[in-house]
Amino acid sequence: MARTAYVNGQYVNQLYASVHIEDRGYQFADGIYEYIAFYNRTLLDGGLHMARLERSLKELAIALPMSLASMQLVIRELIAKNSREHGGLYIQVSRGVAKRDHAFPKPIPPALVMTLCAPKFPKLNEIKDGVNVMTYPEQRWARRDIKSVSLLANVLAKQEAAKHKMRESWLVEKDDTITEGAVSNSYIVSKSGELITHQADENILGGITRDVVLQLAKKAGVKVSQRPYNLVEVKSAEEAFITSTSINVLPVVKVDDMVIGSGKPGAITQKLCTLYEDHIYEQTGFRRL
Ligand code: PMP
Repeated sequence: MARTAYVNGQYVNQLYASVHIEDRGYQFADGIYEYIAFYNRTLLDGGLHMARLERSLKELAIALPMSLASMQLVIRELIAKNSREHGGLYIQVSRGVAKRDHAFPKPIPPALVMTLCAPKFPKLNEIKDGVNVMTYPEQRWARRDIKSVSLLANVLAKQEAAKHKMRESWLVEKDDTITEGAVSNSYIVSKSGELITHQADENILGGITRDVVLQLAKKAGVKVSQRPYNLVEVKSAEEAFITSTSINVLPVVKVDDMVIGSGKPGAITQKLCTLYEDHIYEQTGFRRL
């Protein structure tokens, strides 16, 4: 069945959907995006994602293309038009179309595109056995908290992982601290059971899954520390995992040649996997595991 996209006010066959060649998103990566999972046609943590979208736009002084309430109507319509029960919603907003010039043009309407895709669940054996990740130099700009479409450093890091048949790249600063993954947030659990993940500042993208998982961990009595951690701590960690909207909670059992803990997904990680599946079920009535 043909996929339908929403492009600047119109629902169009995705095969023929296009944007202007002077869209500033295309020429300068002057735009932001969101990726939101939906199950049973219901957005998961939609409110949190829309709040992050609004924040990203505000940080770049791009206007909201329409009210959040109108955007919700468009999303509902798009899901219905695609007859898709579960999947991912991609929203991109760029500053708009203007003659090429670096500085902002006089106020122009922002460009809004939305598309849907099939869910990108991890394979069941990846959840059961855990995945391997590699390390890669952190090369991104200094405002990683903005969900900008400028993803070249992430693309290169993920490509290197793909080349080495690794699930993800963990980005390492010059001082050996790990910020996050190329497309996910990263975590370790120390031998004493402390869950450690980089604090949500300008150095990482504050994941929505991260926010939810940290709340679930605290509720379950896990001690949570939000601070940078380094490769020495990774080496001695008992558990590790990554989170994102498409992979949920995914255990990591090897970082480069360092085997984590017993080499199997750890108890706290597995608990958080289950609690997150429950979280999805409570909001949307969908359960995969
Ligand atoms: N960090 C980066 C760099 C990402 O690209 C993503 C996924 N978009 C995340 C973290 C996870 O964010 P979320 O949980 O909101 O998907």
